[in-house]
Amino acid sequence: MDRKVRIFQSLKIFQSKQAVVVGAGVSGLAACRFLLTLGARVRLVDAKPDLPAETLLKVHADPASAGLTLEAGPHTPAQFADADLIVLSPGVPVKKLAHVLADVAPERVVAEMEFASWFLDEPVIAITGTNGKTTTTTLVGHILRHAGLSTFVGGNIGTPLCDYLLGDAPVDALVIEISSFQLQNCRTFKPRVAALLNFSANHLDYHADMEEYLSAKLNLFAQQDHACLAIAPAAMREELEARHFSRARREYYRADTDFACPGLPGEHNRENIAAAWRMVQPFGITERQAREAIAAFNALPHRIEPVCEAGGVLFVDDSKATTLESVAAAVASMDRPVRLLLGGVFKGGDMAELAGKIAGKVLSIGLFGAAREVFEPVLAPLFPVSWDATLEAAVRRQFGLARKGDVILLSPGTASFDAYKGYAERGRDFARVARALLDTGAEAGR
Ligand code: ADP
Repeated sequence: MDRKVRIFQSLKIFQSKQAVVVGAGVSGLAACRFLLTLGARVRLVDAKPDLPAETLLKVHADPASAGLTLEAGPHTPAQFADADLIVLSPGVPVKKLAHVLADVAPERVVAEMEFASWFLDEPVIAITGTNGKTTTTTLVGHILRHAGLSTFVGGNIGTPLCDYLLGDAPVDALVIEISSFQLQNCRTFKPRVAALLNFSANHLDYHADMEEYLSAKLNLFAQQDHACLAIAPAAMREELEARHFSRARREYYRADTDFACPGLPGEHNRENIAAAWRMVQPFGITERQAREAIAAFNALPHRIEPVCEAGGVLFVDDSKATTLESVAAAVASMDRPVRLLLGGVFKGGDMAELAGKIAGKVLSIGLFGAAREVFEPVLAPLFPVSWDATLEAAVRRQFGLARKGDVILLSPGTASFDAYKGYAERGRDFARVARALLDTGAEAGR
């Protein structure tokens, strides 16, 4: 276990303190586990009313004796009134809790990542941005490991930081993906290297406006000093400098590296690669090591992932594209005419701008599920547009229209919760339909 954790344990600093953890996802459960280890009493609260009591068994075999309780259902002020510390899971925007936290001192409310960072001595690379976080975080971890550094990759993806702290040994470097919700409740988090990948409309269903969303992202740099490195896109240089966003050494990147990476197609991924290269250099990684590692990097699932080719039509799963920028990036990276599948829970973005970016490449658009009223009025005058209630019906319709050599691209530009548990389930459903068309030997429409 981490050295600092042992110190806190032996000083009994958390002993008999009451902690409240909000959200019973992977990170919330990890926070509970860690707080119990420190000696705190823990109340896990989750807005889902039907959350079973057995959830606690994932944290501790005997929750009652460990001092762990669960309160499921709508949040109430009473749940937080006696809390010494309130730890928020990554997916919980603090604003959603404003009505129950009115009487709570703001400094008691921390993000899971912030809380865990209090116990870290190891150098941290932290990555945020609207698009490309997971891809770039995974790539940076891959390069460091390839060069022989012991590396933890996690945060919003994979293993939460609290679980890392409960593990065995300190690593040479931690690479962490961090979201705007987490950053809103970070006050002391000070990554050695911090990167903002890009910034565009997202989560406007939660953030009041773009300014609030950007301020949350820039919180990543707030505690950095001259010994740290801040990395951001060249296109944002003027805006960021005007805001005096970081006291760290600052580097601005563009897609100007020539590293080959078959697993990461498209100009947007060249940007991700350029950013990753800057992030690893302070760790002594040579250009040769980076080049080798990047060349061997495999595509991540549901991010411009080729599924199969049926009747001469290629099916590509980009279900993780939940913003319009990702849709534009996916379309731009295709080297075939595109039949585009869009639809789901819209999170904001400029539809007219998207239409301009994909014109000329997209032959037809198959809308499916929710947000028809957002997409159709802007896109129907410019493209052949159809709508189906389900993804399956939309895929089959586009296949009926497709010619050999086309690509049917699922890059929905939305969250998936209208019909699926998450983007991965949506991607798997798309792949199922594509493979069924392959198995039946179906021919493309024309
Ligand atoms: P995040 O973790 O930020 O959601 P991912 O790496 O999971 O990012 O990728 C999500 C989607 O964004 C995928 O569709 C991917 O192709 C696309 N994407 C990745 N990098 C970029 C980028 N730099 N600009 C625009 N879209 C991107």
